[in-house]
Amino acid sequence: MASRDDDKQSIPELIYDVGTNVTYRKGRFFGKGGFAKCYEITDTKTGNVYAGKIVSKRLMTKHNQKDKLTQEIAIHRSLNHKNVVGFHGFFEDSQNVYIVLELCRRRSMMELHKRRKALTETEVRYYVRQILLGVVYLHQHRIIHRDLKLGNLFLNDNLEVKIGDFGLAAKIEFDGERKRTLCGTPNYIAPEILNKQGHSFEVDIWSIGCILYTLLIGRPPFETNSLKETYSRIKKCEYKIPTSSQISNSAIKIIRATLQPDPKCRPKVEDLLNSEFLTSGYIPSQLPVSCLTVAPRAD
Ligand code: ADP
Repeated sequence: MASRDDDKQSIPELIYDVGTNVTYRKGRFFGKGGFAKCYEITDTKTGNVYAGKIVSKRLMTKHNQKDKLTQEIAIHRSLNHKNVVGFHGFFEDSQNVYIVLELCRRRSMMELHKRRKALTETEVRYYVRQILLGVVYLHQHRIIHRDLKLGNLFLNDNLEVKIGDFGLAAKIEFDGERKRTLCGTPNYIAPEILNKQGHSFEVDIWSIGCILYTLLIGRPPFETNSLKETYSRIKKCEYKIPTSSQISNSAIKIIRATLQPDPKCRPKVEDLLNSEFLTSGYIPSQLPVSCLTVAPRAD
């Protein structure tokens, strides 16, 4: 076991990328994921600020962990879209692998959800439109994210949504390919993954359905106290839209369309952009940051 001091020593205050001759100063700590620690890092020459995702090589002992990080980097570096976390580079030293990412200062939609619970439909349209634009881009590039969840939807200072964390993402290599394996546990896991039937782009539509439900109702659709029970409900597609909830018919329709057990029956991501929910209601071009803590007025 590494002591705390060991840990501190392994990430230097000044991080040097030999390849580009750029030095970054390590700033405040953002959080810790499975293997990664995330810090604010500043390019000492330009003053540009980024999020540095830092993975200790010492912790990547099993060979497939290294392969997974290589795959995450290969996929993420190939992407460039306003609703996908920008990838600015990666490098390594003897201790760590460093990934330089677009900084998302307003954390993720997870923190927003914890604070606000159910959002207004106007807000949901605002966020979901951007999520859909990002996923249209991914699917056009044959990338399945496979772990779309509130914690992977980052927010910048302008509350623009940036899809991040490509740790479980996969590339479809030929038309009609069905993926058979997935190393990891997606949060909003689709029934066809649980049933090991082979899966593709439709798993992201399922996750978008779970995201829509959570944002509109205030809690996830299949949540129970036990994972076993949650998985059993997912396989039966057993969820309820509480009668007490005030959500519109177009919102109910988009949830019902996306949360269907048969992946073939789910709409494509482009169809969702044209759904009644997104086209028949007002979508603001911006939201004030006060929306992170309180509902906007007049909604
Ligand atoms: P995980 O292993 O859970 O996927 P990540 O490495 O994606 O974790 O993220 C670890 C922490 O860093 C999280 O708390 C997340 O909020 C933060 N983080 C990740 N990417 C960014 C970013 N681009 N901007 C700001 N914070 C980030």
